[in-house]
Formats: sequence, C-alpha cells, structure tokens
Amino acid sequence: MKKIAVFCGSSIGFNEVYKNEAIKLGAYFVEKNIGLVYGGGKIGMMGVIADTMMEKNGQVIGVIPHLLKHEEVAHNNISKLIVTKTMSTRKVEISKLVDGYIALPGGFGTLDEIFEALTLGQLGIERKPVGILNTNGFYNHLLKQLDTMVTEGYLKQSNRDMLLVSNTIETLISKMFAYKAPKQTKVINKVVRL
Ligand code: AMP
Repeated sequence: MKKIAVFCGSSIGFNEVYKNEAIKLGAYFVEKNIGLVYGGGKIGMMGVIADTMMEKNGQVIGVIPHLLKHEEVAHNNISKLIVTKTMSTRKVEISKLVDGYIALPGGFGTLDEIFEALTLGQLGIERKPVGILNTNGFYNHLLKQLDTMVTEGYLKQSNRDMLLVSNTIETLISKMFAYKAPKQTKVINKVVRL
C-alpha cells in the first residue's frame, strides 16, 4: 500500500489519547513510506496527522472541496492540495489516489466517508481494505450496531467482515495488507456493470 486515505475529525476531541494516536499514525506512515491522503484541513485530528507527517518530510495530499477552502480551514503547508468542485467529487478524487482507507475518531464527516468506502466495497465497485483504528474503544458502540444489523438481517456477515478493526496501528495495517475482498454475487456484478 503506497497511499492510504485517513478520515478523521475536524475537531480534536476532549481526550488527548486520540490526538496522540493520530501523531503515532503519522509517524508510522512516514517510517513505512506510506503517503497520506486526507480531507485537506489544518484543524482537529486532520491537522495533527498532516503536521506530524510534514515535520518528518512525509507525503501529504489534501483533497478539499472548494466551499471548505477558507484560509482558516485549508492546510497550506502540505505536499499537494487538490481542490474539487463538490463534496462528492472529492470522494472520487480520494478513491483514485489510495490503496485503502482508515478511520480515526471523528464525527458525521468521518462516518460518512468510511461508510461510503464500505458501500463501494459491498457493491464490488472497489476492493480496497477499509479499517477502523479503534483507539480507546472509541468505535465499540458503532461496531455493536453493525452486529445488530447482521442479526436483524440488514447486513450480510461477509460484508460486516470487510471492516477491519484493531486498537493498534501495526495490527490494523497488517490486516489491511492481508485483506482479500469477498467474492460478489453475480446479481451484484450485473448491477455494477449497468
Ligand atoms: P467530522 O468527522 O464531522 O469532523 O468531519 C471530518 C471529515 O470530513 C474529514 O475526514 C474531512 O474529509 C471532512 N471534513 C469535515 N469538515 C472539514 C473541514 N472543515 N475541512 C476539511 N475537511 C473537512
């Protein structure tokens, strides 16, 4: 994996443990020569991981929609800032660049982005690994909700299993490297080709 998209909060959160993990992930990417693709902001968790990697001469590509490119939000000191017309074209740009996706703690924006990546995987449009770095059990309740979706018949276990989870960076990345996308049914393949 040469480049990974990281979706994470535009806020920093109340507990320092999350910020520290973002710093650790940024340092890990630089050490392993993995480029970061992210939302292009300089605020919150986004700013922390981007700053960490820039300080260590890592590769940081921001993809930001035009409407968010205010002076106080967009990061001007990264390797490359791509400005897109809309929020949805931003997602397409990000997906063109990356080999996988990771979510750190965040809010609605983070959930929207990681679930879009999972939906693309579920439909077989993409076959890239999608992981959650579950620092401090931040996503435990969300993961329980996914299990409820399986038991209530709204989510296939095989699709639930696409989501890779770990509370350590090393384990998550090695799961992502080993990831094999599930085989899609013929019906789904047909829908995707339409
Ligand atoms: P949230 O989790 O709601 O804080 O939203 C963070 C995610 O949505 C990030 O991964 C970004 O891609 C995107 N996002 C939300 N707000 C901003 C912002 N002000 N600047 C850049 N990206 C943002």
